[in-house]
Amino acid sequence: MKDKVSYWTIRRRSQSTVQSWSTNIPDEYGHDDVDEPLIRTESPIPPHGVSRVAATHADETNECGSAAPSPVQFSRSLMKQDTTYSDDDICLYDYDEEDGLKIHRFSDSESEDMVGCDSAENLSDQIAAWAISEKVKDTAVDKLLKLLKPHHPDLPVTSRTLKNTGYQAADIVNIAGGEYVHFGILNGMKHFENEILASFVDVIDYHVNVDGLPLFRSSGTQLWPILGKIVGLQCPFMIGVFCGPSKPSNVNEFLRSFIEEATVLKTSGFTLQGTAFRAQPVCFICDAPARALLKQTKSDTGYYGCDRCAEKGEYIQGRVTFPQLTADKRTDDLFANVAYEDHQLGRSPLIDLGFGMVSGFVLDYMHLVCLGIVRRLLHFWLRGALTVRLSARSVSLISQKLVSMRGSVPS
Ligand SMILES: [Zn+2]
Repeated sequence: MKDKVSYWTIRRRSQSTVQSWSTNIPDEYGHDDVDEPLIRTESPIPPHGVSRVAATHADETNECGSAAPSPVQFSRSLMKQDTTYSDDDICLYDYDEEDGLKIHRFSDSESEDMVGCDSAENLSDQIAAWAISEKVKDTAVDKLLKLLKPHHPDLPVTSRTLKNTGYQAADIVNIAGGEYVHFGILNGMKHFENEILASFVDVIDYHVNVDGLPLFRSSGTQLWPILGKIVGLQCPFMIGVFCGPSKPSNVNEFLRSFIEEATVLKTSGFTLQGTAFRAQPVCFICDAPARALLKQTKSDTGYYGCDRCAEKGEYIQGRVTFPQLTADKRTDDLFANVAYEDHQLGRSPLIDLGFGMVSGFVLDYMHLVCLGIVRRLLHFWLRGALTVRLSARSVSLISQKLVSMRGSVPS
């Protein structure tokens, strides 16, 4: 037994080896001509894009008059913590083509968290994280792995294998005329495990955003991400993403994985570190085309396009208007029974979630005010009838003032 070196001794030795290696790396392994980092964090869905879509769409402000719950379900300290999220904290996804397999992983913070973890298998994660942060060449990492291998038989032999640590094949399914990957609601929420555990709530409310974005000018390829965001936190996470030549041709297929998981999380719930939780979507935040797709209703420009009331629109000067002020309001119950024949094209699968299909689809500030009324007014002021149009001088004055304020307002 005397010869047997304890695990902790081996571990200490390897750590000091790693440390001395890292400080002794000559400049030839320098930082200028580094290979690709072992774990890339670039994403085909730029973090900023993800952030922009959800942060703006998931604006807390809504005019839905719905039962959307108070956002302050988490403690104040949590809200404060929350503001310190950087883009790096956003769930990033890496896509790569290796052997015909598309792979993805949750990025960065996970692997960084691994540093300091006590599990033996995390040594390779630690080396990977160290190699990335120090921008060590693959050849140098290979040499280090060779040195460590006798002490840690489980370590990979090459940096290439190390590179695959944490990667897993994503299930890409062909549905609704395109490809879909379901990353998972729970997977996304697990990035906020500490916040959830500190929140003292049993039921986690989350917002959902679905939107279609064109990918290229040259083709009609569209990306339809389903994003989630825990109420009270700012950072969104990816639930699933559809990519195809046009919008999902079948909303039942598009939403199937989401609805199945959302139903389980809502009814059976899940456990985090031994604590039981349930999670439920409390509102969907979408623009008008996405709303019509998800709710299976007629377009917002149709005669029965109003989400909130049953009034038939009037066609005036090239557009449908809704002049009545006292029309019957639509209700969740009638909608769930597909009673609005003029308005509903079919039965939305979201009804099965037990979700308020009228009250739960909020009408948000960004789409109604910023991109709606304000844009329309600008159009009138710049290109409208002469009676309301601003003079060229006024426009240039306003422009100058806006430019001078640029540094002081959010983009
Ligand atoms: Zn209306």
